[in-house]
Amino acid sequence: MASQTVTSGTGPDLFKKELHERVRDYFEANDISRLANGQMRAKLAIAAIWWAGSLALVYTSSGTLSFVLFYGLHLLSHAFILLNIAHDANHFAIVENNFLKRALRYSFDLCGISSYVWRQLHNLQHHNNINIIKEDDGLATRGILRYTPFAKRLKVHRAQHLYVFLAYALFSIDYILFKDFESLFFPFLDGLKGKKHPKIEILKIISFKIFYLTYTLIIPIYVLGFSTGLVLLSFFCWQLIVGMIGATIIQVSHQSRSNQYPASTNDYEDFVYHVFATTADHSYNSFIADWFFGGLHLHVIHHLVPRICHTHYRALTATVIEPIAKKHNISYRTNETFFDALREHYLHLRALGLKTA
Ligand SMILES: [Zn+2]
Repeated sequence: MASQTVTSGTGPDLFKKELHERVRDYFEANDISRLANGQMRAKLAIAAIWWAGSLALVYTSSGTLSFVLFYGLHLLSHAFILLNIAHDANHFAIVENNFLKRALRYSFDLCGISSYVWRQLHNLQHHNNINIIKEDDGLATRGILRYTPFAKRLKVHRAQHLYVFLAYALFSIDYILFKDFESLFFPFLDGLKGKKHPKIEILKIISFKIFYLTYTLIIPIYVLGFSTGLVLLSFFCWQLIVGMIGATIIQVSHQSRSNQYPASTNDYEDFVYHVFATTADHSYNSFIADWFFGGLHLHVIHHLVPRICHTHYRALTATVIEPIAKKHNISYRTNETFFDALREHYLHLRALGLKTA
């Protein structure tokens, strides 16, 4: 079914050759690196100042209201870092220097999420198996949401379009407290079952979790003297917002009414067709998306060449993706605005919740 709508009159090898040539030509013609440019360096500075500055405000706040607001400002910096820095860093798409390249990957751990587990779930599983059940982490919802016709439909899914964003609100809390450990010891994805993980990575995960919970919870309670209830309530409430922002931006590009849900990677003649069939871009002209969505809104180019910094995606989507998709007769899906993409996401969930196909 899936391969019928994505076709190429010239063959995948020719398409890939042209894709890589055009990408290389773009960087050579403009004499720029594939890694961080000025916009990305600005994002790195914003991330560092936002994270450290807001944490300083939390640690020096005296009243309840100022604590809650600064705490929120700080946790929102985590959403910015996760989307705009950590994802690229774990694709080695920011800097050349080996030490910095490795150090930046820990930006995930700084925000409470294991970078090692992320690379297992995202780089390995998601990138190689987009929209394939039991392989793509993006579809792993413990049965709470039904994204694909291959997932069992439960009665509760009839209302999934109504509760979807509440489920997304739990995204960061789930990762921080449960999912990282669950993925290591009780993996849901077939590709991770039986996999042995280096002891040093497990030790690092535990250490980073302790570090994270220390600076976000233990210090405010035991050093600064704020009440346990206030700190826990601030943590959980703001994490709901961080989770909702993060999960929504991550999910709308793949879980959409216009996208396909293959049974396996064999559904397509080549993986490039798989990428186009399972991914939809959006918000090309949005300033907010450009600065805050970490390039996840221009996602086709990311899946075709993931080691390029996301601040180049806008130019590459216009000069490479759109023209060659057209030339090779491949369906390129894009929504004009974020709200259009959200609508497609909502309608997809509603359809999959109400029907069995
Ligand atoms: Zn990625």
